[in-house]
Amino acid sequence: KKRNPGEAEFHQAVEEVLHSLAPVIEKHPEYVEAGILERFVEPERQIMFRVPWVDDNGKVQVNRGFRVQFNSAIGPYKGGLRFHPSVYLGIIKFLGFEQILKNSLTGLPIGGGKGGSDFDPKGKSDAEIMRFCQSFMTELYRHIGQDIDVPAGDIGVGGREIGYLYGQYKRIRNAYEAGVLTGKGLTYGGSLARKEATGFGLVYFTQEMLKEHGHSFDGKTVVISGSGNVAIYACEKAQSLGAKVIAMCDSTGYILDEEGIKLDTIKRIKEVERKRISEYVKEHPNAKYFDGQKGIWTVKCDVALPCATQNDIDVEHATKLIENGVIAVGEGANMPCTNEALNLLLEKGVLVAPAKAANAGGVATSALEMSQNSMRLSWTFEEVDEKLHGIMVNIFNASKEAAKEYGMEGNYVAGANIAGFLKVADAMMAQGLV
Ligand code: NDP
Repeated sequence: KKRNPGEAEFHQAVEEVLHSLAPVIEKHPEYVEAGILERFVEPERQIMFRVPWVDDNGKVQVNRGFRVQFNSAIGPYKGGLRFHPSVYLGIIKFLGFEQILKNSLTGLPIGGGKGGSDFDPKGKSDAEIMRFCQSFMTELYRHIGQDIDVPAGDIGVGGREIGYLYGQYKRIRNAYEAGVLTGKGLTYGGSLARKEATGFGLVYFTQEMLKEHGHSFDGKTVVISGSGNVAIYACEKAQSLGAKVIAMCDSTGYILDEEGIKLDTIKRIKEVERKRISEYVKEHPNAKYFDGQKGIWTVKCDVALPCATQNDIDVEHATKLIENGVIAVGEGANMPCTNEALNLLLEKGVLVAPAKAANAGGVATSALEMSQNSMRLSWTFEEVDEKLHGIMVNIFNASKEAAKEYGMEGNYVAGANIAGFLKVADAMMAQGLV
């Protein structure tokens, strides 16, 4: 904490992981001798840069850009870009740190990295978004490449932003290098099912976990926080498995539709019109809108899928969920539960699908996009979805087995940390002191 003052989210993520690694360290003193833990928490490289751009009123604006290249032991750095006013180094480092373990869990050769900016895309025109993305890439391009570091989307960075970023990269490099970014549009190297992958993957993982404990999504009541990329496709897959999703939110408030959320309306409001979720009740008067996003956790449900942002569920919300009889929490967002909330849920026997395992479907499918780019061909939706499903089942089994081996059966949080760590640690050991 002394070395990284003020980076609260990074401290939180490291603390959670190191706590579950205690039995691993006991069994493998060679990791301690080789300084693996000290190296593991120190990024290989951190880049911060100025992003100047001109708004629609002709005024110069300046934002800060970040790229943290955390660990390349098992492959090129890989991780999304987040554009949100709350972004600072501590957020990017926590996300980059989680990404190392997540990428390792996919079983694919990708290292960990993350980036972004404190730029707020809300309320900006398309032209402003484009000018910002072009300026951001004008610096970022020198640090990335299909074999070096491959960014993708995250909060505030979707298909539109990736398109502008890719266009600027191509223009500067004067080369066809589709594998430098993932989440691209389907007409220029994107993969079918990438858009759906994180949400679908979250539901596949949670489904495995429920099955292991004698449950299924069929007939369950589900609450999903967020209404962005992850939330929308988690809702779609959960509904297709027979679940009833009754509440979703954005950062201003939540909607409750006891008849079940009409996802087509949410998709149009959020993906096309880019409006607030409160619009939903104008079309579906039986549904209710409540100001304030946090109230969503007071809604009674069997399965909670937090898919908005970090620290969405604290002890108070976890307590309410437990009182209301929640069976499982599937983390779609990164670190959506505080460490205290996580411990309480586990203590009370709630099944927890941890983010770094449960939301790894997005990055796994990004790696499949890179493979298709290298081979210069495109797989069908069904082919990609089937591979994604297989990867999520494998991640669940790896987390389950690791938890069992280290005496924490049923604790998939610890299992995912351990399974993800072991592969990276062994690669670091093999590569010597780097
Ligand atoms: P989007 O930008 O598409 O959507 C984010 C959603 O969360 C929006 O509904 C947004 O509401 C809400 N939200 C964001 N910040 C806050 C906040 N501070 N308080 C309350 N609500 C908030 O992002 P994604 O769906 O891509 O990402 C959601 C989460 O999933 C993030 O934690 C991300 O790191 C994680 N993730 C995403 C992956 C992906 O493939 N996209 C892969 C793995 C993890 P509003 O519009 O009002 O801001």
